Amino acid sequence: MKRNILGRTGLEVSHLGFGAMRLQGVSEQEAARVLHHALDRGITYIDTAAEYGDSEEKVGRAIAARRAEYVLATKTKKRDYAAAKAEIENSLRLLKTDYIDIIQIHYVNYVQEYKQVKGPEGALRAAEELKAKGYIGHIGITGHRPELLARWLKDYPFDTVLFHLNMAQPFAERELMPTALEEQVGMIAMKPLSGPFFSHVREAIRYSAGSSAHVILSGMKSVEEVDMNLAAMEGDITPEERQSLLALAEGLDAHGCRRCNYCSCPLGIRIPDTLIPSRYRERFGLLEAGEQLWEKSAAKFAACLEHERCREKPLCEQACPYHLPIQEEIRRLAQVQISR
Ligand code: SF4
Ligand code: SF4
Repeated sequence: MKRNILGRTGLEVSHLGFGAMRLQGVSEQEAARVLHHALDRGITYIDTAAEYGDSEEKVGRAIAARRAEYVLATKTKKRDYAAAKAEIENSLRLLKTDYIDIIQIHYVNYVQEYKQVKGPEGALRAAEELKAKGYIGHIGITGHRPELLARWLKDYPFDTVLFHLNMAQPFAERELMPTALEEQVGMIAMKPLSGPFFSHVREAIRYSAGSSAHVILSGMKSVEEVDMNLAAMEGDITPEERQSLLALAEGLDAHGCRRCNYCSCPLGIRIPDTLIPSRYRERFGLLEAGEQLWEKSAAKFAACLEHERCREKPLCEQACPYHLPIQEEIRRLAQVQISR
């Protein structure tokens, strides 16, 4: 397994990182089996979050005894000082450790949220305080808006940044990663399969692995998934392969969606889960779980096009910071459905 230095943290990490969010859905025994297998096979970056149900607890119970073998990253979504401090202290307890390598300020997508986090009574003060006391090694940020993350990396000395990067969401490559490189920030790229969507698993993982991100963070919940991810990461990516992966991904980002989730739909259409895999689905088809998710929205397309409250100006479009023509896209997708 290739290893990288995670930007200015100086930490050596495995190129493939273990995303522990999906451990919520498995038994404690299975979680332990998967985590031990990941460590045994050379994965040394483990990422979880206070937000992920019992994920921190499972990580702590399963592998705290092997704490020296992995770089541990978790997250707090609290925005104010007192709540963030209490949450990070609880993470230390659940993770059964006295040291978290990286605490990430989680899911910051709004300018207002960033201002709050950075303000005198904000979450960053709690992270800085715990870092000064030796409980935390480094402070990072996560979010779904690459251009804002880039701006914030210039504003505060975050050590790491966690962002989406995959064949249908290459936006960070132009909008964030150049700044992260310049600032020597550790880059962790998540969701190489865009969640449960991409059927060409190997190509999708190698697409992300061919970027300059230091860690490719993939959510895993079984030994088979660990092995599958590792197999996909094996071997160098030559310039020729990189070119063919870029060609494969060409146009899959035409939807423009960043998954920032500002939009919501009164009919329950899962807008980012519909837009992001849409072009990929047309070209390659989705994994079964992804297809089921997508179909749930597709069943509502006709109602969307007739929805009274969205006739003049679609509600979702009013909320989208990228001004995406969401209803137009749904009209196009409905037509593609019909013509199939
Ligand atoms: S335009 Fe369609 S997708 Fe957008 S909010 Fe209205 S009903 Fe939902
Ligand atoms: S449609 Fe717009 S608001 Fe909704 S997730 Fe995508 S980018 Fe964000």
